[in-house]
Amino acid sequence: MTTLAIDIGGTKLAAAQVAGQTIIARRECPTPASRTPRALQQALQSLIAPLMEEAQRVAVASTGILNNGILTAINPANLGGLAQFPLVGFLSEITHLPVMAINDAQAAAWAEFCALPTAGDMVFLTVSTGVGGGVVLNGKLQMGNGGLAGHLGHTLADPAGPLCGCGRRGCVEAIASGRGIAAQARGELAGLDAKAIFSLAAQGAIQARELVAQSAQTLARLIADVKAVTDCQSVVIGGSVGLAEGYLAQVANFLSREPQVYQVALRAAHYRHDAGLLGAALLAQGDVS
Ligand SMILES: [Zn+2]
Repeated sequence: MTTLAIDIGGTKLAAAQVAGQTIIARRECPTPASRTPRALQQALQSLIAPLMEEAQRVAVASTGILNNGILTAINPANLGGLAQFPLVGFLSEITHLPVMAINDAQAAAWAEFCALPTAGDMVFLTVSTGVGGGVVLNGKLQMGNGGLAGHLGHTLADPAGPLCGCGRRGCVEAIASGRGIAAQARGELAGLDAKAIFSLAAQGAIQARELVAQSAQTLARLIADVKAVTDCQSVVIGGSVGLAEGYLAQVANFLSREPQVYQVALRAAHYRHDAGLLGAALLAQGDVS
């Protein structure tokens, strides 16, 4: 008895067969560049076809907001312009299985909470194409009435900062995310993606180091805000930027400069890049830990 878990991200799609807390088989492909509902449907169909055998349910973790099975996004650029995509309806139709769908960072938060349930109240932050979050308080994942709870990437970092894809100016996501880092690159770094900027930073390139440090500092300030709002006992960091070598140490360093009351234990995501897949599966299976 397995769950077919699907993770829909800004840059890649992943799918896995999950039994209990174990991933048995896993596949991934790039999120279609053509950015149309039809391209996403076709990519999902070929991605999941080899994993369908024995699956009894489908659990989806997706970037964006899931409300009544419809996928929307605060920042439509993260979904390649998709708006109001009937995700659950489409997957039910092609799999003939029960389908549940949840925001990817909320799903990842649940997986990370289940990995260490004794750690108390926990906030998960993913720094990737965008910046997402998930909040677990009193052993319960907070989703909000409309699915918006935990979208911490769209809290304000700098009122004079760059315009965010959500329409607001100076969100954490516009500065700290992979896309935000790339968009602020100038001169010789202009046009490079976050991955290239991180490797130049590791080689000592000054502008690249400054962009990475600005992202880490913005995240550290967000963590202090999160501590003030939730009084959580731990903050878990995931995502391709969040898990990049040396990034968490920089965040911890910036956080250590904040007043004592905002200090909180930081750790890297236990399930690394699979937290979203596993969290969705665990929620669909009804597993608490
Ligand atoms: Zn925003």
